[in-house]
Amino acid sequence: MPELALTDGEVQLLESRLRERRQQIGVELGGLAQTLVEVRAARGAESVDDEHDPEGPTLSSEWSRIHGVHGELAASAHAVDAALERLATARYGLCARCDLPIGFARLEARPEATLCIACARAGER
Ligand SMILES: [Zn+2]
Repeated sequence: MPELALTDGEVQLLESRLRERRQQIGVELGGLAQTLVEVRAARGAESVDDEHDPEGPTLSSEWSRIHGVHGELAASAHAVDAALERLATARYGLCARCDLPIGFARLEARPEATLCIACARAGER
């Protein structure tokens, strides 16, 4: 069953969701950047032996964990920015692969989605 194109009201709702999400990611990224600075400072001050507490997370593992989260957030920020750009060019809500409407239900769950559900399933590895 083909999805319907978005109505103006739906587009507005999704746009405000995207803007909220973008703002939230910005705040989280800012907090994370601060944590990275702190971990880096603690790491620099740490002695050569960072295996002294095998029970607790080492600064190195904390560092890579934060780096991982940072990467994910940055990717989300990029996806949301791209969605906002598509909104500006009226490409929003259309599948990047087949050009059919993605459908409101899917966009409501994932406003930054670029593929319709059929293409997303076909593209899954
Ligand atoms: Zn598609």
